[in-house]
Amino acid sequence: MAEIEVDVLVIGWGKGGKTLAGALGRQGRSIALVEESTSMYGGSCINIACVPTKDLVHSASERRPADDPQAWFTYAVAGRDALTKKLRARNHAMLDEVDSVTLIDGHARFVGPHDVEVTAGADVLSIRAQTIVINTGTRRPNLRSPRRARDCSTPPRSNTSSRFQSVSSSLAVGMSDSSSPECSRSSAHR
Ligand SMILES: Cc1cc2nc3c(=O)[nH]c(=O)nc-3n(C[C@H](O)[C@H](O)[C@H](O)COP(=O)(O)OP(=O)(O)OC[C@H]3O[C@@H](n4cnc5c(N)ncnc54)[C@H](O)[C@@H]3O)c2cc1C
Repeated sequence: MAEIEVDVLVIGWGKGGKTLAGALGRQGRSIALVEESTSMYGGSCINIACVPTKDLVHSASERRPADDPQAWFTYAVAGRDALTKKLRARNHAMLDEVDSVTLIDGHARFVGPHDVEVTAGADVLSIRAQTIVINTGTRRPNLRSPRRARDCSTPPRSNTSSRFQSVSSSLAVGMSDSSSPECSRSSAHR
């Protein structure tokens, strides 16, 4: 197993982590930043959250009544994807150009107080660091609605709904629970 040792390890390419990695790297500290998804360089905000949602809202506000909804939606999604691709590349370059920052693709997990294993396919990298910063964001809690307790369908989440390719005929925003014991498998959104 390959091994490296750095001053500071940042797990997750979120808002605080990328700023910290860049700032400490420019001071000459050896930094490793681990991100588990190549489509998430720069974190949630620019890829699946703040920026793409506002871009879609802006595009929707520019549609004229004569514009076909599906054609406009396809155009808006393509524009959103081009924007996030550009921001992702810029975020990657911003840290890649700092010599003392090492960018690593893979899923990080602790194996000791100062030791983390990073897995990417069959490859495993062991990283030791005096300081480890956890910047892995959050996950949705399982909130149970009594009225939906027996409904085993899995409503889309914000990250999956942002990948819709067609205009939805209706949209409801709320809390859901897919952890019901009766639900052995999830179903796709409609
Ligand atoms: C639809 C939507 C719209 C939003 N709009 C706004 C807005 O307008 N304004 C605003 O201020 N906030 C907004 N937010 C909230 C904002 O996006 C989040 O608060 C912010 O992005 C969280 O940043 P973070 O640094 O905590 O984590 P993230 O940016 O989520 O970064 C965490 C990273 O860690 C990676 N990761 C996780 N686990 C591991 C692991 N074990 N190993 C390696 N990598 C790992 C993830 O892939 C991810 O890239 C919005 C959120 C959503 C869902």
